[in-house]
Amino acid sequence: MSFQSLALPDTLLQALTQAAYLTPTPIQALAIPLMLDGKDVLAQAQTGTGKTAAFALPALKFWAESSVDSQSSSQHVHTLVLAPTRELALQVASAFETFSRCLSPKPHIHAIIGGADSEEQIAALRKGADIVVATPGRLLDLIRQNKMKLSQLKLLVLDEADKMLSLGFADELAELLQQIPAQRQTALFSATFPDKVRALTLQVLTSPIPVRVDQAVPTVDRIEQRAITVDNDFRGRLLRHLIKAENWDHTLVFVASKRAAANLANKLRNDGIKAVAFHGDLDQDERVAALQTFESRRAKVLIATDIAARGLDFDDITHVVNFDLPRSPDDYVHRIGRTARAGKVGMAISFITAENAEHFKLIEMRAKIKLEREQITGFEATEVAVKTKGQAPVKGKRKSKKDKLREAAQRDQSADSDS
Ligand code: AMP
Repeated sequence: MSFQSLALPDTLLQALTQAAYLTPTPIQALAIPLMLDGKDVLAQAQTGTGKTAAFALPALKFWAESSVDSQSSSQHVHTLVLAPTRELALQVASAFETFSRCLSPKPHIHAIIGGADSEEQIAALRKGADIVVATPGRLLDLIRQNKMKLSQLKLLVLDEADKMLSLGFADELAELLQQIPAQRQTALFSATFPDKVRALTLQVLTSPIPVRVDQAVPTVDRIEQRAITVDNDFRGRLLRHLIKAENWDHTLVFVASKRAAANLANKLRNDGIKAVAFHGDLDQDERVAALQTFESRRAKVLIATDIAARGLDFDDITHVVNFDLPRSPDDYVHRIGRTARAGKVGMAISFITAENAEHFKLIEMRAKIKLEREQITGFEATEVAVKTKGQAPVKGKRKSKKDKLREAAQRDQSADSDS
């Protein structure tokens, strides 16, 4: 299968060659012909499998073939992609720019996201709005102000559709759907479609064709997964040790809170490891700066909260660390899918503590994996979960000689506690 055989115009093929897309990925090979055939598509594919091009290429082909009207400065949107996070919206918009490089005329492509200057967005929209990639809140704001119109929309895409159809976006999505013609093509892309989400897909799709990339060759197969047991307060030191001892290269670390992200980044920097934090308290410029620092390798470690789990598109992350485990078992796949992208291999490391050991078993069950628990010399776990009847497990201590030595060491470094 080649891109040439997919009935795409030469202008798109040229851009694909320039972007070094030589052959379609499985999801592209399956979804593109269906989309070009005008079908509604329900596509399930792991992160990093190339789903952006699977919908962007058909969208651009349709746009290029559409009436002159949509190529003028009309505020009528041709294709709308909804994404749950700003980062994903920016990345999808940038992929559209890449693929439309050789089109003439070029479509007006906009990322309409919260946190950015809305006056600037409004000014840009005046020139025309062909392809809009948006997070729902800001999009609704601008639609209510009549800055763009969805009444002639031809294609609606929900990226990370499981999130878009979840309760958090229900009201915004319902309001948007009222503005969109029922006669349209719709495509849903997501790594997971839990049963309750699958039922909701019927609200937006008409006779959809389900597409699923064979689970036998998902991206996660190229990820070496490790579960390392460690005491809670030793995770930071263990991380620093592993980055140095195992010479980790381009590492993405997930933590549970914004504060933890900032703290851990500081600790790493103090230890001579170049690290940046990436979390929801940063404004848009700071987020972009953090991502650029990481991407350009001025920092080898990015410490992120879950907002970064979806959408971040770095081709060369070598290690993903679950410093804190994801709350939702499904997010484990999203997180570790940040490595081993675009055909590369990667490693995912989860820190297992006395408190989260049970939760990790749940994650293993859901992800259909069973990982051997690993100990790193000098960082062996000593804490055990103590179950009290009728209560959740709490941390308990089985005191050993090593424990006491550790406590002494900890006292020495008391200013250097991690969490
Ligand atoms: P996506 O799942 O769309 O975020 O894509 C994951 C990564 O794979 C991105 O870095 C894409 O640029 C890259 N990619 C997607 N499709 C192809 C392809 N057919 N050939 C080469 N790289 C690709």
